[in-house]
Amino acid sequence: MRAIIVAVLMWVSVVPVMAQDLSGLARVDVNKSKISDGWFGTTELTLSLSQGVPYRVFSLSEPPRLVVDFREVDFTGVSPDALLPEPGRISAVRFGAFKPGWSRLVLDLGAQMLPNEIAMPVDPSSGQATLSIKLHAVPADEFAERAGPPVDADWGVQAADQPPTIEAEDFVVVIDPGHGGIDPGAVRDTTSEKELMLGVGLALRDALRRAGGVEVVLTRDTDTFVSLTGRVALAHQVGADAFVSLHADALSQGQARGATVYTLSDEASDAASAQLAAQHDRADILAGVDLSGTDDQVASVLMDLARTETMPRTDTLATALIDNMAAAGGPMNKRPRREAAFSVLKSADIPSVLVEVGFLSDQRDLANLRDPVWRAVMVEALAAGILQWRDDDLAMQPLIRQ
Ligand SMILES: [Zn+2]
Repeated sequence: MRAIIVAVLMWVSVVPVMAQDLSGLARVDVNKSKISDGWFGTTELTLSLSQGVPYRVFSLSEPPRLVVDFREVDFTGVSPDALLPEPGRISAVRFGAFKPGWSRLVLDLGAQMLPNEIAMPVDPSSGQATLSIKLHAVPADEFAERAGPPVDADWGVQAADQPPTIEAEDFVVVIDPGHGGIDPGAVRDTTSEKELMLGVGLALRDALRRAGGVEVVLTRDTDTFVSLTGRVALAHQVGADAFVSLHADALSQGQARGATVYTLSDEASDAASAQLAAQHDRADILAGVDLSGTDDQVASVLMDLARTETMPRTDTLATALIDNMAAAGGPMNKRPRREAAFSVLKSADIPSVLVEVGFLSDQRDLANLRDPVWRAVMVEALAAGILQWRDDDLAMQPLIRQ
């Protein structure tokens, strides 16, 4: 039963506070914020903000989480460790941009807990606000009954920016920098996959635009969260000719080192690839995206006919990228071509690939990924691969259509 909102609260703006700073986002004061476990199964979250903002609170199950949406909080410079130095009844926290105009904080609950007190008092003189949420342990069945996403999933916010209008005859590539916002992807010290891939994606866009004759659309060009289905939907909205998702994940098993290109298959080529696909679905779920029911949306594009035509074209796209990255020196994975059921690759009618430029879990790859010169070489190789495929694919089209 995932239907009932635990609480939806809106902080009503008052003039003196709004007058302080109309444009700036609320910022978190980590020193005055904390998460602490108390007696009798209680836990309290205190989040100190530079100003009051509208917010809402709800719980999600499987796994149990407490979600706080804000309009809008800037979490820049706040580390999860600073907010939760030691896991307790709250086992992990994540936060960041979620959708345009929203930020999200997700607390992973080590025990089934629901809020029994929620407040955001605002200091009238300073304008500073303190979000306080008190949680108490509840039986599993009560939690399951009361957890669920809010009815107004879009929270009254207009849909994201309209996709760009594109001339029908243009060759359109959708570049998809993996992760973003509340979902950092892999993290090693100060290096995060979401940041690295945004940089690579922006550079790849520029490289392709310099080449000319290519319309490039990014699924995100800022540090924001985009759901996997949202990325697929954008590719369709803009009529993409190719979809390239960029990643640098951490993967413990299966000799995960060196550039690897993945394509969609229900049957994973190996256990490590299956784990990687599951990892990405899980990141969506942990961010608070409900994946149940999204298969219907995907099903509409899973046309066998389209798939039969697309599959060989996807193969040649993967090969072109691998050839060009290898020619640029890689380093490539031992088996650079792999398959798994990645949700982001489920467009049957758009050749879609997922590129692990390298793996943050591998020391050599990590050093490469942190090296701007190496990244620039890989960006040029990816651009060359896409352009080579465009030309080859175009030459093949009359043959396929016959
Ligand atoms: Zn990734």
